[in-house]
Amino acid sequence: MPVGPKKLFKFIFKILILLLLGGLLYYYRAPLMTWLTPYSNRFLTNLNYRIEELTPCQQPITLSLGDLDPQFNLSELQLTTAINQATEIWSQPFGKPLFNLVATSGAVTINLVYDNRQETTDKLKKLGIDVGNDQQAYEQLKTKYDTLNQKYLSQKDALKNLITDYDAQRAAYNSEVNRWNKKGGAPDNIFAQLAKTKSALESQLAMINDRTNQVNLLIQDLNTEGTALNRLISELNLNVNKYNTVGGAVGSEFEEGVYIQDAAGRRINVYEFSDSKQLVRLLAHEFGHALNLDHSSGTTDIMYYLNEAGNDTLTANDLVALQKHCKVTK
Ligand SMILES: [Zn+2]
Repeated sequence: MPVGPKKLFKFIFKILILLLLGGLLYYYRAPLMTWLTPYSNRFLTNLNYRIEELTPCQQPITLSLGDLDPQFNLSELQLTTAINQATEIWSQPFGKPLFNLVATSGAVTINLVYDNRQETTDKLKKLGIDVGNDQQAYEQLKTKYDTLNQKYLSQKDALKNLITDYDAQRAAYNSEVNRWNKKGGAPDNIFAQLAKTKSALESQLAMINDRTNQVNLLIQDLNTEGTALNRLISELNLNVNKYNTVGGAVGSEFEEGVYIQDAAGRRINVYEFSDSKQLVRLLAHEFGHALNLDHSSGTTDIMYYLNEAGNDTLTANDLVALQKHCKVTK
């Protein structure tokens, strides 16, 4: 069939439009990629997660370091050591690596987030107090707080008396000076005595300032302990509530750290730990959530909702939950 000139023109026009579009896409490829990358990354992350869901524990979950607040005073080496210890808690009994720490773009990023939780822990550490996360820790801290509060109240009273005393002596001195001034000046012996009183008043004032500083420091310590106490109160209540809610949200209870999975990706935020042992256990717990495990009821389970037992190995409960999730048949 012969091709008419009109049809040929239309064909050439279409080719030109396609060439133009292709050229534009090529020309703007760099900004287009920057614009598309987050979407494609999210797509890949989701895809990886779906694959992981379909074939759990077949491929190690990749981990990488995210934002590490320097205020934790934890070197990257110390953190990676803790991470490796925590992953071994799961991988070793399973007999196969479940996690793999990679340099960048892991499926799960690990962040150290410094906020008032760690700040309070650090301040309490300086006061020689190590705070756990249970009723017993609360009772201990409450006792310390009450003792400190008693000390504060008695020092405050003593200071108040000192100030009253000082004010009275100073008023007496001032009226004596005024009286002699009106008379046109004091005789030498009186003048010498007044000068002595004046310097005594000055040293009293210096002492009062000193004591005031001490009381202020006590107030600061009291505030630190009070903050920790309030937090424990709310956490213990919170945990009790969460514990009673069967099948509650995964990962939001362990106030020292949290595992989050949302549109922004999968991540573990560490907020607080008092030593490396607690950090390893905390990480192991959050890794359990990353494996999709829920809380269990044994108080020494890694997946127990509180980080209060000292064991750094899986319990029978933990292992059963892991094998069930990984569809291991025995
Ligand atoms: Zn948890």
